[in-house]
Amino acid sequence: MTASPATSGQKSVAILGATGSIGQNTLDLIRRANQEATGTAHDGPYRVDCLTAGSRVEDLAALAREFRPRQIAIANEGALTTLRGLVADLDCQVAAGKTGLDEAAAGSSDWVMAAIVGAAGLSPTLQAVRQGKTVVLANKECLVCAGDLFMREVSAAGATLLPADSEHNAIYQVFDFDRPEAIESVTLTASGGPFRMASLDEMRRATPEQAVAHPNWSMGAKISVDSATMMNKGLEVIEAYYLFPVEKDQIEVLCHPQSVIHSFVTYKDGSTLAQLGSPDMRTPIAYTLAWPDRMAVPVTPLNLGALGQLTFETPDFSRFPLLKIAQVALQRGGLAPTILNAANEVAVSQFLHRKIGFLDIAEVVERVLESSESFDFGGIVLENLEQVMDVDARARVLATEMTAKLAVA
Ligand code: NDP
Repeated sequence: MTASPATSGQKSVAILGATGSIGQNTLDLIRRANQEATGTAHDGPYRVDCLTAGSRVEDLAALAREFRPRQIAIANEGALTTLRGLVADLDCQVAAGKTGLDEAAAGSSDWVMAAIVGAAGLSPTLQAVRQGKTVVLANKECLVCAGDLFMREVSAAGATLLPADSEHNAIYQVFDFDRPEAIESVTLTASGGPFRMASLDEMRRATPEQAVAHPNWSMGAKISVDSATMMNKGLEVIEAYYLFPVEKDQIEVLCHPQSVIHSFVTYKDGSTLAQLGSPDMRTPIAYTLAWPDRMAVPVTPLNLGALGQLTFETPDFSRFPLLKIAQVALQRGGLAPTILNAANEVAVSQFLHRKIGFLDIAEVVERVLESSESFDFGGIVLENLEQVMDVDARARVLATEMTAKLAVA
């Protein structure tokens, strides 16, 4: 099998985090569009140049066999030999580790889906940005842990940044970038997650299985837990601040359990513009894949008549303190969002490994933010990736210590 270069008219794409939920949804759209055009997944309007994964070698190798990328990379260096063996008959460069991922991200594709989960996605996504590519951001943690730095690099490289997150994609579609002064507020909608109606006692006893069982969306484990704590909405508030020319206090959150209105923009003249759709990530991903055109997507059509009603609630900070903690971290600025993100990643992982309880996640994040005063974070601007990763690492150490103190027997 030969990996052929993109031909004229083809969009050459890289998918960082190809084996995950966003990666799979992106490849589903590419598979369908290519099959419709040529009868094969690997040839058609999209040419898959590069795919990456964290550690799932078999899944990555299967995708390489189907989409025939020029290059694949796996974060886990220990998996390199196995991966090489699995794709030995393919004409495909294989790399591993941080350097492998960074080089793959900087490769020859025009369009990059940044869908690695967590701060691990920052370095490869920045490499893609530096090449001036069209970078589609699913990985919100990039903007949370290094928003100023990231946006400076986007601007310096002339990269195009498109949001894949459904809320930000919705805002992007209705935001008048030529007249930001005409905007009163942007409102991110939140489903409220699986514990929207749960008591604090029920939340205290919540298991990882209950926390990842999102009522509307099918997603990876980490973002599912973030949705259950509503930290996801807090991270999205920070993400929105960096993506759109608005002030921090212009970003609002409203619970909307049906996840049909994906977010909205309110203008000073009293108009509110929203984007609606069925809760299926393929719609916002397709928007970015076809951009500036539109493509057909086999999603369940929105049937408002059948839905009958859409409902709204204000968020309950007493049961979902992480939303407030994230908003405060944004107001505080400096290193606070970086520390917030790192502490949350550690706490969520420990919860998924059943080391701490569900409500302990907020406890860990709050305590780490409180005890990281020594980081001297007020008003500091992170100048480079090394500084970000240093703060991230120090916050992870603190969070790991905190989780050890809270660990369930
Ligand atoms: P998943 O957990 O499903 O997938 C994560 C991907 O990242 C996998 O390909 C995984 O590889 C890879 N990965 C994990 N750890 C590392 C690492 N250390 N280095 C390199 N690659 C790694 O996550 P999702 O697809 O759900 O989410 C991805 C990102 O998109 C997150 O930032 C999330 O917040 C955001 N997002 C997701 C949405 C969704 O609907 N899922 C919606 C909006 C935003 P492997 O499979 O080998 O572990």
